[in-house]
Amino acid sequence: MARRLSASLSPEALLGMVREALDGVRSELLQGSLPEDREHLTLVASRRLEELNRQRRVPKLRRVFNATGVVLHTNLGRAPLGPEAAARVAEAAQGYVTLEYDLRLGRRGHRDEPLKPLLRQLLGAEDALVVNNNAAAVLLAVTALAAGREVLVSRGELVEIGGGFRIPDVLASCGARLVEVGTTNRTRAEDYARAVTPNTTTLLKVHRSNFALVGFTREPTLQELAAVARDHKLTLVEDLGSGALVDTSRFGLPREPTARESLAAGVDLVTISGDKLLGGPQAGIVAGRAAVVERLRVHPLLRALRPGRLVLAALEATLQAYADGREAERVPAVAALALSAEAVKARAEALLARLAALLPEATLELVPTEARTGAGSLPLGALRSWAVAVGGRAPDALEAALRAVDEPVLARRWRDRVLLDARTLEDQALASVARAVSEAWRLAGAPRSAASAPPPDRDHDSEDA
Ligand SMILES: *Cc1c(COP(=O)(O)O)cnc(C)c1O
Repeated sequence: MARRLSASLSPEALLGMVREALDGVRSELLQGSLPEDREHLTLVASRRLEELNRQRRVPKLRRVFNATGVVLHTNLGRAPLGPEAAARVAEAAQGYVTLEYDLRLGRRGHRDEPLKPLLRQLLGAEDALVVNNNAAAVLLAVTALAAGREVLVSRGELVEIGGGFRIPDVLASCGARLVEVGTTNRTRAEDYARAVTPNTTTLLKVHRSNFALVGFTREPTLQELAAVARDHKLTLVEDLGSGALVDTSRFGLPREPTARESLAAGVDLVTISGDKLLGGPQAGIVAGRAAVVERLRVHPLLRALRPGRLVLAALEATLQAYADGREAERVPAVAALALSAEAVKARAEALLARLAALLPEATLELVPTEARTGAGSLPLGALRSWAVAVGGRAPDALEAALRAVDEPVLARRWRDRVLLDARTLEDQALASVARAVSEAWRLAGAPRSAASAPPPDRDHDSEDA
């Protein structure tokens, strides 16, 4: 066995694996769980080696089926790319590309140039640039516009986005001084105006994308804020986060503000995510007035935050789908949000039929559910959805087995049943999902499996933005 593996492994890697396999056999031997028979032990060690080798070859960043009903699941990579965008990424990955080359002029270009016309058209902006994510966009904007100066933020918007991204900490790390205005629930335009000093440069508005403020509340309109900014020669920046390019009420969700509306209302600079409601790759987009965007473009920090060609290729293809008016077909996240409850039900029925054929002994039932947008967007929005509830196995064991099969399926729990929400499973995936679930169902029924299952991971229900 070791001799066969030596053909495909470096001597160091092979030695490490042989040691690990022998250590395992030794500790089992000490526990008395193996017979002291030389031939048998050799066989056990060889099997272990084979298993270690198999595990080594499984990619650690793995494809999974998302049956959680959370469309933009941050822990699962947020927005999946459609076939056109994926093909563009593969093409850009395999060859040379005009990343910073202007074919018309035959000389060096800028990596923002190719996407600029699309971004300007879709966002209604004079100029735009792309960075690694929206957090980077905020970092760049605040650093370029307000390092060593004061930034006004409403106390109702000093938020944590998730993963430790807190607005006060971000401002501090950029060397900007935060000046809090108003109160948690009520802030007026005059509160901003009164806080302005000769050292103030920026008025930052942060969209409450992952929570809602209800009751006795008040906030100025964007037009009022723009007027304050104009009167005091400040730059009005809005961190919009969610990146909706279309009206989300079309999908029966609450309405998310769009970058286009903000810019039209007088905001100087907006920042959005590429992989939230926009449905593209992880990216941050900064758009707005040309003079302001240019200040970010010439800042040295941009070099550390700029995206690579794979991201730009995916983003261009995604934006092109919007420009063609085909986002509901070509952008999978938008397609998942746009799907009617009836269509989701039909998909859940198809999954149930496949499962029933493979698992006649399981208890299967169609149940109505509420799917979510995810990625900390639209906290009050729920989408009517349908799931297949799988019973007949201990739910913890079944969930663990679903994570252990070759093509893992991440599901949701509802009481003592495991739910497979159909909104986030594509039609083409149903056959593979059904196979994976039936494999897991058998695995979960095998003796020892419940005992050896690790504790269920609830974290993917509480993913942050
Ligand atoms: C999501 C979000 C961010 C962070 O965006 P990433 O693209 O995840 O870096 C920042 N601000 C707001 C308001 C957000 O909603």
